[in-house]
Amino acid sequence: MELGLKGKVAIVAAASKGLGRACAEEFAREGAEVAICARSAANLAKAADSIRKATGREVFAQELDVTRHEAVRDFVAAVEKRFGRVDICVTNAGGPPSKKFVDISIDEWRAAVDLTLMSAVYFAREVLPRMKKNRWGRLLAITSVSVKQPIDNLVLSNSIRAGVTGLMRTLANEFGGDGITVNCICPGYTLTERLDELVGLQAKNAGVEREKILERLSAQVPAGRVGRPEEFAALVTFLASERASYINGCSIPVDGGWTKSLL
Ligand code: NAP
Repeated sequence: MELGLKGKVAIVAAASKGLGRACAEEFAREGAEVAICARSAANLAKAADSIRKATGREVFAQELDVTRHEAVRDFVAAVEKRFGRVDICVTNAGGPPSKKFVDISIDEWRAAVDLTLMSAVYFAREVLPRMKKNRWGRLLAITSVSVKQPIDNLVLSNSIRAGVTGLMRTLANEFGGDGITVNCICPGYTLTERLDELVGLQAKNAGVEREKILERLSAQVPAGRVGRPEEFAALVTFLASERASYINGCSIPVDGGWTKSLL
């Protein structure tokens, strides 16, 4: 299927690893101009190099922390300067810590709101006026299946991602008449460093091998396995395409059937 992404300019936030990186590579494979960011310059350079080698496309990479509004503002301006426009933006950040409610301090709540919610606000504020001017845009937020079905020991994710979902659903209403669609993509268990970290933590707490925890997670999924980042990226690139022009205001899981709700 021709997605019509050739020459489109796509920002993918927090994209030196995992889901963000997989999305950036898939956009590059589809012929888009890609801009990525993350905090570690070394990992970012490694990701940009390997995407360039795999796809032959240019990748603009800038080291930044998505919790810093000025840094996000300057990054989006730099992308526009480099490629002339911004068509697509995928918001993303690292996952908030996995803890029980009683173990989370007020400072940790504030930090998680900055990381998960405010970072999406910062990108949306910068990219939407530019997309509106062009009468075309795709704003996509990486959230989690926790917005459909809360996950044990992830109260920060369960609570704050609901805020991101409310934000994005509202923006879909406000900007739907401007040729812009706004959607959330909800990953289920997908093999990235984040999942590896959570599996390691659970294995330590339960006193069992990591493989045992992975087996238990896989058993919760009708597909019988955890996902691959490229399976997630396939939906993201489709939603960013012209083909998806009438899909707006949705939260779509990519979870092998893990979410048990009807809708
Ligand atoms: P990951 O493998 O840990 O990768 C996270 C990426 O985000 C890295 O490139 C990291 O680079 C970057 N990052 C983290 N904090 C950042 C910050 N403050 N500013 C800029 N970049 C930042 O994670 P992932 O599995 O791809 O997950 C992505 C998101 O999806 C997370 O929010 C996660 O909770 C959520 N999610 C994942 C799964 C899953 O199974 N993988 C399931 C549900 C939800 P630096 O550290 O260098 O900044």
